[in-house]
Amino acid sequence: MHDVISPVTEQVVATVPSSSVEETDAAIARAHEAFRTWRAVAPGDRARLLRRFAALVDEHNEELAQLEVRNSGHTIGNARWEAGNVRDVLNYYAGAPERLSGRQIPVAGGMDVTFYEPLGVVGVIVPWNFPMPIAGWGFAPALAAGNTVVLKPAELTPLTAIRLGELALDAGLPEGVFTVLPGKGSVVGERFVTHPLVRKVCFTGSTEVGKRIMAGCAEQVKRVTLELGGKSANIVFADADLARAAAGAPGAVFDNAGQDCCARSRLLVQSSVYDRFMGLLEEAVKAFRCEDPALESAQMGPLISAGQLSSVRSYVDQPLFAGSAPDGPGYWMAPTVIEASSVQDRHWREEIFGPVLSVLRFDDEADAIRLANDTEYGLSGSIWTGDLGRGIRVARGVEAGNLSVNSNSSVRYWTPFGGVKQSGLGRELGPDALAAFSEVKNVFFSTEV
Ligand code: NAP
Ligand code: MG
Repeated sequence: MHDVISPVTEQVVATVPSSSVEETDAAIARAHEAFRTWRAVAPGDRARLLRRFAALVDEHNEELAQLEVRNSGHTIGNARWEAGNVRDVLNYYAGAPERLSGRQIPVAGGMDVTFYEPLGVVGVIVPWNFPMPIAGWGFAPALAAGNTVVLKPAELTPLTAIRLGELALDAGLPEGVFTVLPGKGSVVGERFVTHPLVRKVCFTGSTEVGKRIMAGCAEQVKRVTLELGGKSANIVFADADLARAAAGAPGAVFDNAGQDCCARSRLLVQSSVYDRFMGLLEEAVKAFRCEDPALESAQMGPLISAGQLSSVRSYVDQPLFAGSAPDGPGYWMAPTVIEASSVQDRHWREEIFGPVLSVLRFDDEADAIRLANDTEYGLSGSIWTGDLGRGIRVARGVEAGNLSVNSNSSVRYWTPFGGVKQSGLGRELGPDALAAFSEVKNVFFSTEV
């Protein structure tokens, strides 16, 4: 058994079982058994079951959101959005079963057609930073494409995933089609990698663990999707609407207390407007509301754990300025801004995964692109400019999977999401995700007599 701790109160909020290797194997065997019938369910029926699952998630939006506030310290506003995202992703992929059609390709002497075949059992490994959305991005397209799913939530944040597993059964998904297995990464997660009946691993988390998972999957040439770390740049040009860029910059990095793989944790500001921009930013950071996440007004809650708090604090030596955070119990840290003295600073280079923004100035467009790309990561980023041509050039020049121009938003369930370089492999969401949960099979039918 494992105690789940609230990061707001430091009190135990629930105790959940830690699945053993034997229990994991048994669940994988059941998922494999269920695959035979699930793949054969008529497309329209599979679609209807996923829509019913989505409807139940919607009905339980407030319950799921409150559970996430208690377990993860997410702000109530974010948590409602997150539960809504699971609903939307399920509804979006519920449109897939009847549309997952192959092709007919002209050949001599017969007919050639392709099929999208499901893979089998898919293992989804979820981190603690966005327990609901990241679970849904894996299980919804996997189920829609005809796979069965075993899902391991992060040990710190299993409660909403467990609830989603119950709602799936209530919606009528057959036993074994979607199983949530709380437990340790080193036990349940590793077993997804080594068990031969798990045909694909869909992992979100640290780059370090992601590399080990990829290496482990290579043993069986197991399919893998990786969504890993980031150190994304927010680039502000002198010709931008500085007030808008400054107003958006705190949310772009401090949302979810900075525990976001898309966090714009490196701010690049053009030298000619540096002082003016930093004045506006300081005002916005000081107004950013870090408080009890159950309050409707909260913009940021605590960090997930004592360990994460001490890891994040170790990066902050001399802050330029900071906002405020509550005292007392809870893993609180005020939103903090630091100036980089060079691109070698540890806080400039490493993914901190906390409410810390590193700032550096740049001279011109080429300099901005070079600095933005001077990282092993490439997940997201923002470009603020009033010049359309510049916006296009820089968006094409920055090496990242998801960029926004004059905006900080990176996630829409119907557009592709994922990283380049060491930020990951493969794409989730959008129309292409289904291909990552299917194999193309080609069949030639001879018409020779
Ligand atoms: P992590 O270790 O990569 O954990 C992510 C998930 O992988 C969790 O469910 C974890 O289980 C599981 N896991 C751990 N070791 C495993 C293994 N050997 N085989 C299979 N699964 C395994 O991430 P973390 O330790 O929680 O966080 C560390 C750092 O990673 C953060 O500070 C941040 O920099 C980065 N991170 C990035 C993201 C992202 O969205 N890109 C998300 C989370 C963390 P347990 O819960 O049992 O450990
Ligand atoms: Mg870890």
